[in-house]
Amino acid sequence: MKITKDTTTEEALKIGSDCQRCGRCCTYGSGFMLESEVARIAQFLKLPKDRFVKDFLLETEIFHTPVFKIRSLKKKDAPYGPCMFLEKNMCGIHDVKPLHCRVCNCKDGDDLHAWFMVHYCLNIYDPESVRQYDSYVKTGGRMIPGAELEKLFPDKQMLRKILSYERFK
Ligand code: SF4
Ligand code: SF4
Repeated sequence: MKITKDTTTEEALKIGSDCQRCGRCCTYGSGFMLESEVARIAQFLKLPKDRFVKDFLLETEIFHTPVFKIRSLKKKDAPYGPCMFLEKNMCGIHDVKPLHCRVCNCKDGDDLHAWFMVHYCLNIYDPESVRQYDSYVKTGGRMIPGAELEKLFPDKQMLRKILSYERFK
């Protein structure tokens, strides 16, 4: 199934479920977690939310939207390492793992990651988010059909003002 801007979350989950659970991808990196998912996963681990964030997550942002990156166990100077939740090649939080981990597989991972960012990180009501998305696209970021800025943002005049910084907020 082709992944486009119109792919629903249900469809993305179905595509992402094509996974043999070998654990390889999680050995070389970790997924992203949305703010709205933090409390649920902390509760599953029976940890206070603050402690869970401090010990397991890194605060970051994608297209000016706050998200968390799950910490990796990197060896000194290594550019990558296994996800903190990887246990014997299995996901230790499989039953509650974040959407990003559920939709991204090794087969369609690039498109699924792009789909995730467009749906859950790009905020067309935030000019800075729109500008960062525009830079991402112009610098060769993965594009899925239907996620062109002109299609997502039909008000051409406003889009021009945002991209030219005529409109900051
Ligand atoms: S949370 Fe689970 S699925 Fe996600 S990166 Fe870590 S081990 Fe992999
Ligand atoms: S997405 Fe691919 S690499 Fe990752 S666990 Fe599944 S089959 Fe293995």
